[in-house]
Amino acid sequence: MSTNTAHQMPADTGATYVVPGFGAKESFPIPTDLLIGDNWVAGSGEGRIEVLNPATGAVLTSIADATVADGMAAVDAAQAAAASWAATPPRARAVILQRCFHAMVEHADWLAQLISLENGKALPDARSEVMYAAEFFRWYAEEAVRINGDIGIAPAGGNRIMVQYQPIGISLLITPWNFPAAMATRKIAPALAAGCTCILKPAEETPLTALAVGEILRRAGVPAGTVNIINTSDPASVCSAILRDRRVRKLSFTGSTEVGRILLREASYNIINSSMELGGNAPFLVLDDADLDAAIDGAMIAKMRNAGEACTAANRFYVQEGIYPAFVDRLVEKMGALKLGAGTDAATQCGAMINGAAIDKIEMLVSDAVGKGARVRLGGKTPAGEGFFYPPSVLDEVPLNADLLREEIFGPVAAVVPFKDIEDAVRMANDTEYGLAAYVYTENMKLGLQLAERLEYGMVALNRGLVSDPAAPFGGVKQSGLGREGAHHGLLEFTEAKYIAVNW
Ligand code: NAD
Repeated sequence: MSTNTAHQMPADTGATYVVPGFGAKESFPIPTDLLIGDNWVAGSGEGRIEVLNPATGAVLTSIADATVADGMAAVDAAQAAAASWAATPPRARAVILQRCFHAMVEHADWLAQLISLENGKALPDARSEVMYAAEFFRWYAEEAVRINGDIGIAPAGGNRIMVQYQPIGISLLITPWNFPAAMATRKIAPALAAGCTCILKPAEETPLTALAVGEILRRAGVPAGTVNIINTSDPASVCSAILRDRRVRKLSFTGSTEVGRILLREASYNIINSSMELGGNAPFLVLDDADLDAAIDGAMIAKMRNAGEACTAANRFYVQEGIYPAFVDRLVEKMGALKLGAGTDAATQCGAMINGAAIDKIEMLVSDAVGKGARVRLGGKTPAGEGFFYPPSVLDEVPLNADLLREEIFGPVAAVVPFKDIEDAVRMANDTEYGLAAYVYTENMKLGLQLAERLEYGMVALNRGLVSDPAAPFGGVKQSGLGREGAHHGLLEFTEAKYIAVNW
């Protein structure tokens, strides 16, 4: 167990990555080492991790590979900064967060290009992500000065019940590759607003965006040690060691349910407060009376934002018999019109998948569904050539025993199932261990709201294809997670309620 041990800080390699095509005015070189304390350091790992461009398979650059010792050095740095950051006036914290917001907006095109390069998503998706990511800084700058407690009189009279929200302490933030900017800022911004110092562990596939955000934070005046960033090829050992250090008090994870389960076990060792944003399997219900145009527009956003690589992505379309043929025809037409290509190509609307394993999973789920009787109405076949591409695809009449109705496909494949009775649709929609987001299209608002209440999901979009908003509590029920991000709820996840019993 490490307790304030001073770890030797390895030297800075000065290695950086420069996004091609951007000058010094719109961009800056991105340090590719570890951010520990005030320094970008090489770390004690022997090798470096290669970062690939999923559209070509080519290596973009390499980044430092943190070891357990580097993880401990990051905890030391976070500990050294903790007291003074917690004591920094909320307004001063807010000013820094505002600067981060402006810096991200100012660098939006460059950051979008970077996200497209390392993640593969189409530039419009990347640009939306940058703006969404930046908004967390603005929102939490506003929330930083509103961490209000409360005070009441004990029911028996006599004493007062005072409740104050204090920073929870050093936080380990672990993020996935599908929204490399937004998943990081959705955690960093509330942690900083609440007065916590943190260690960010980004996904191996997309570390550069997180490193760019780290440099933005530094330039905006975030004090040394307040945000530390470590990339590693051995997340299990490094994160486990961090979680077993008693100085660490919070784990905030976004990723798969499978890894979330492992991390909850790791967090149980020191009873660490845990927020979990995990996998989804979103149903998209279209009732006979739905506005077809609106339902198709919503379906395109819910399915195709990020080429389907979103935890909130519509995975299963349940469409009522009366509107079913028209809905499927229109969906096939719209999905078929999307241009597949490298995310950085301005004409691209559907970018590359993250890696070969993602393509393998999609192929497996599609072939299972087709083998069980689903009809391929569009796509359904991996194109030849370089890069990790899968075309927009529509599978129709998907049988209820198909694996893709149970598993996240995480790709541009829409699985459509007809239904007659609304009760059957609700039952099918709820028949999953996941409970992140669900979508309903109907012109009958009374019925829509009743369905929204009955769907076992943390978020329900009614006549909308998008739920994400920094001002709204984002999160799931069942095996989709614990806790909420965004809104005031997201700030409270980084605080402890301190109850003070007072006589006066
Ligand atoms: P993943 O679970 O494989 O990895 C997520 C992160 O966990 C990465 O940083 C990875 O390095 C790290 N990790 C992996 N094993 C670890 C271990 N043993 N200990 C510590 N860290 C470990 O997920 P992914 O493939 O990067 O992302 C896709 C998944 O994320 C999907 O299931 C998606 O639904 C989910 N997701 C959820 C939300 C949400 O808000 N609920 C948002 C985005 C993505």
